[in-house]
Amino acid sequence: MPNGKPAGVRCVQLGEDLRCAIFGRPERPACCSGLQPQLEMCGPDRESALAWLTLLEAQTRPEVG
Ligand code: SF4
Repeated sequence: MPNGKPAGVRCVQLGEDLRCAIFGRPERPACCSGLQPQLEMCGPDRESALAWLTLLEAQTRPEVG
């Protein structure tokens, strides 16, 4: 995605198995490979992690109009 991945848009590299198709390859964006999981971000379970991601996406979604 040469122009970046807008919030709420599925990454073209995300496979049907929910795995990154370019994981470990040099073409994987630095923002992805450099991301270090943290307890604040992941929380204790999947629901907490998704709630955090949903909040981030809402806060970074470009305004329309
Ligand atoms: S790790 Fe990055 S490149 Fe891979 S699927 Fe996720 S957003 Fe896309």
